[in-house]
Amino acid sequence: MPEKFDCIVVGAGPAGTACAYELAKAGVNVLLLERGEYPGSKNVMGGVLYRKMMEDIIPEFYKEAPLERPIVEQRFMMMDKESAVTFSYKGLEWGREPYNNFTVLRAKFDQWFAEKAVEQGALLVCETVALECIVENGRVVGVRTDRPDGDVYADVVVLADGVNSLLAKQLGFHREWRPDEVALATMEILKLDKGIIEDRFNLEPGQGCTIELFGDATKGILGTGFLYTNKDTLSIGVGTLLSGLIKHKIKPYELLEYVKNHPMIRPYIQGSEPIEYLAHLIPEGGYHSIPKVAGHGVLVVGDAAQLVNAIHREGSNMAMTSGRLAAETIIMAKEYNDFSESMLDHYRMKLMESFIGQDLKKYKDATHHFDAFPQYFERYIPMMNRAASQMFTVDGASKWEKQKKIWRDFGSTGEKLKLARDVIKAWRVMK
Ligand code: FAD
Repeated sequence: MPEKFDCIVVGAGPAGTACAYELAKAGVNVLLLERGEYPGSKNVMGGVLYRKMMEDIIPEFYKEAPLERPIVEQRFMMMDKESAVTFSYKGLEWGREPYNNFTVLRAKFDQWFAEKAVEQGALLVCETVALECIVENGRVVGVRTDRPDGDVYADVVVLADGVNSLLAKQLGFHREWRPDEVALATMEILKLDKGIIEDRFNLEPGQGCTIELFGDATKGILGTGFLYTNKDTLSIGVGTLLSGLIKHKIKPYELLEYVKNHPMIRPYIQGSEPIEYLAHLIPEGGYHSIPKVAGHGVLVVGDAAQLVNAIHREGSNMAMTSGRLAAETIIMAKEYNDFSESMLDHYRMKLMESFIGQDLKKYKDATHHFDAFPQYFERYIPMMNRAASQMFTVDGASKWEKQKKIWRDFGSTGEKLKLARDVIKAWRVMK
C-alpha cells in the first residue's frame, strides 16, 4: 500500500463508494477500505434503491447495474391478526425509463458499484479493518488498519463505516446509540420461481412490487415489516426499535417467524425456500441524533451519521448523496489545500440544505412521538380494521347503523377525544 493518499474512505457501502467514485473521477488519489471479503458481503438492505440519487453519480446506471426489478407498485398493509387494510399505488410509468426505484441485492450491487469506483481510479482494498483514526495535533491524519504495517495517511479521512461507526465514536463525535435511536432488523431472502412471484404479486414479467407492513406485523411495536420482490427471490424482514424489543421481551428472529407465518403474508411466500438470513441495525434517531459530521481532516457520511429517513425507509439514497456531498467538499478543500474543520464544515451545510437535512428536520419528532404513544400501532390499526370489516360486511344493517356502531366502537367520549387529540398530534409531527 502506498503510504499517503489524498483521501481514505472507510467502508465500501453506498456512502463510501459514492464518495470514492466522485473523488476518483475528479482525479483525487483515494483509498477505499472495506472490512468484508468484497463490498456488499456484509451489507444488509430490504433493498429499495432510489434511481435519482444513484443517477446523480452514474447517469443511466440502470442499463448495466445488477438490479432486481423496477418497482411499479408500493403497497402499505395496516395489519391486524386476521385482516389488513391495504393502500397501494401502482404506476406503469415506474416500469419504464427513467424509472423510480428498484429492488437490489446488496451483495451484487455494492460489488458492482465499487468496481465502478475502481474504474475511475480508486484503490479498493478489502478484508481490511480500519481500527482507529490516527490523530496528530488534534487533526485526523490517517487510519490504523489491522494489516501488518497497516498505518495509512491522508489529507482527509471519510468515515463511511455504517451505523456502528466505532471510528466516529472514538473521535468523540457521538456517544453509544440509545436503544430508541436504532432499530434492529432481521430479514430472509426466499427463493421462489419468477413466474410464481409475478402471478402472486399481480406483476407483468420484469415488474416489481414492495409491501410495507404495519401493526400486527411487529406485534404493535414501533417498526415495520417488508416484503419485496426480486427477480427470483423475495426479501422479507421486520425491523423495530431496539427499545421496543427490550420492553416487550421479544427476540428479533421470533418476530420474523411471526411475520412469515402471518395469515396475510403466508400465501405470498408459500413454497419458497430461505437461502439467506441477515440481521443489522438501522439508525433511526433522525435529526436530533445526527452527530458531529466534520472535524479537522475528517468527515462522516451515511449511516455513520444517522442519515436515515425511517418514515419513508430511505437510507441508501441519503448515504449516496451524503457521500457525493462529502466528495464535493473535499475537492473544494483540495483546491485551497485547507482540510481544517471550518473548511470541511461546508459538507454539513450542504447536507442540511439538501433533501437529507430538510426531510430529517420534517420528521424530527416523529419516531420519538410514535415510540412514546404506542396506541397508534397497538390500538388504532386494529380499530381501523374493525371499522373496515363492519362497513364492508353486508348483513342487512343499514349503513347509518354501521356508522353508529363504528362510532360506538371508538369508545367513550373521553377515548374519542383522546383519539382526536392523537390524530392532531400525529399530523403535527408528520406535517
Ligand atoms: P453500510 O451500507 O452499512 O456500509 C458500511 C460499510 O463499511 C460496510 O461495507 C462495512 O463492511 C464497512 N465497514 C464497517 N466498519 C468498517 C471498518 N472498521 N473498516 C473497514 N470497513 C468497515 N435503505 C434504503 O434506501 N432502502 C431500503 O429498502 C432499505 N432497507 C433496509 C432494510 C434493512 C433490513 C436494513 C438493515 C437497512 C435498510 N436500509 C434501506 C438502510 C440502508 O441499508 C442503509 O441506510 C445504507 O446501507 C447505508 O449505507 P452506508 O454506506 O452508510 O453503510
